Amino acid sequence: MKRASPTFAPGLRPTRQRRAILQAVAAEDRPVSAQDLHAELRRAGESAGLATVYRTLQALADAGVLRTFSTPSGEVAYKVCEPGHHHHLICTRCGRVEEIPSCEVEDWASAVARRRGFAVTSHQADIYGVCAPCVRSRRRGAAGR
Ligand SMILES: [Zn+2]
Ligand SMILES: [Zn+2]
Ligand SMILES: [Zn+2]
Repeated sequence: MKRASPTFAPGLRPTRQRRAILQAVAAEDRPVSAQDLHAELRRAGESAGLATVYRTLQALADAGVLRTFSTPSGEVAYKVCEPGHHHHLICTRCGRVEEIPSCEVEDWASAVARRRGFAVTSHQADIYGVCAPCVRSRRRGAAGR
């Protein structure tokens, strides 16, 4: 899978620690919470405190570098997103988020809005459900391992 290469937003100084935090988020295949990322960084020998991790993640989200999602347990989690308009498939079992790079709801959104005399400025649509690996493991589980 192709990884988005994260870049810092103008105005946010890319310090070594911020870079390490961003790299750690980018290395995850699903959104990661501040707490989990902090534990991850600790294991990697990074000395960033939890408060710094929180602040940095929030600053990167505010700058539009990261997007926030909520984990299956309801925590705020952060992910490096593809640039530009796109949608997501979000697994409610494992928290995996798949990028859908194309937009297939644009026409539908404008048509619905037009009928009501509404001028569209943007739209958002994420799809929630159970990802393919989770569906497979559930089937295996049901068959009796
Ligand atoms: Zn995305
Ligand atoms: Zn899943
Ligand atoms: Zn769209």
